[in-house]
Amino acid sequence: MPQQPWADVPDARRAVMRANKAKNTKPEIVVRRMLHAMGYRFRLHRRDLPGTPDIVFPGRRKAIQVHGCFWHQHEGCRRATLPATRREFWVPKLARNKQRDADAEARLRALGWKVINVWECELQDLGRLEAKLQSFLAVANDEL
Ligand SMILES: [Zn+2]
Repeated sequence: MPQQPWADVPDARRAVMRANKAKNTKPEIVVRRMLHAMGYRFRLHRRDLPGTPDIVFPGRRKAIQVHGCFWHQHEGCRRATLPATRREFWVPKLARNKQRDADAEARLRALGWKVINVWECELQDLGRLEAKLQSFLAVANDEL
């Protein structure tokens, strides 16, 4: 019986990966709730912008990508550790994801947008995350 590459991946991580392929992931919802509580209004998943940014502030020309640490290979993050097996599958697949993210960000910046990533692991410290969001959003686009 042919084995799925997924078979090597622990259940918890598999769930994280599934979640990050979808829109409206749990980390996204947490970030959106926080932004609302901070008084910000925004658009979601603007498909007319490079990379379909998760959270968009059209008037400010700012965008936030909410990334799963494994799926988007958060550098230096323990959640981004590759599975020990089937590296020939994971290495190019995850490298493509990372390249796609970088390309989308470069194209957004070329259009005059400012972009930050919020990583799944940053939800461990909501106070710090709020400060990060505030310092990104409270400053004018051309001062960032
Ligand atoms: Zn991380």
